[in-house]
Amino acid sequence: MTTRIASCSCGAVKAAAEGDPVRISMCHCYACQKRTGSVFGAQARFPKDKVILEGNTTVYERVGDSGNSVFFHFCPQCGATVYYKIRDLPDVIAIPIGAFADSTFPTPRVSVYEARKHPWVHVPENAEHYD
Ligand SMILES: [Zn+2]
Ligand SMILES: [Zn+2]
Repeated sequence: MTTRIASCSCGAVKAAAEGDPVRISMCHCYACQKRTGSVFGAQARFPKDKVILEGNTTVYERVGDSGNSVFFHFCPQCGATVYYKIRDLPDVIAIPIGAFADSTFPTPRVSVYEARKHPWVHVPENAEHYD
C-alpha cells in the first residue's frame, strides 16, 4: 500500500499517510486564500488511523461559516501548514496537497466556494461543483 509523506518547508513537521485519501478537494474561499497565500486551497482527507504525525506544531483555530472549527497545525519554524483537524469530523485528518510535493498526487474531485474562484483557475473535469 502506498505511503505518502507530507512535510513543511524546513522538514521539522511531517505527516505520513497510508493508502488513498477519502476525499480530495479544492476550496476557493478567501480564508483558504489567506491561509495558503495561493488563490485556492487543495487538500486531501485521510482516515485518522492511517496517518502518523511527527514534529511539534503551533495551532491556529479558524471558525468557518458553518460554525465548525478547523485546527490548522503549522510548523513554528517555517510556518507551513502540514495538516489540519476538523472538529465535527474527528475521524479524519486533512493534509494540504502541496505539502506532499508530488505532482502525481490524485486529482481533486470536489471544488467548493466557487463563488470566490479566480476566473483564470480551472477546476478538474468531472469534479463536483459547489458555490
Ligand atoms: Zn518547518
Ligand atoms: Zn476554504
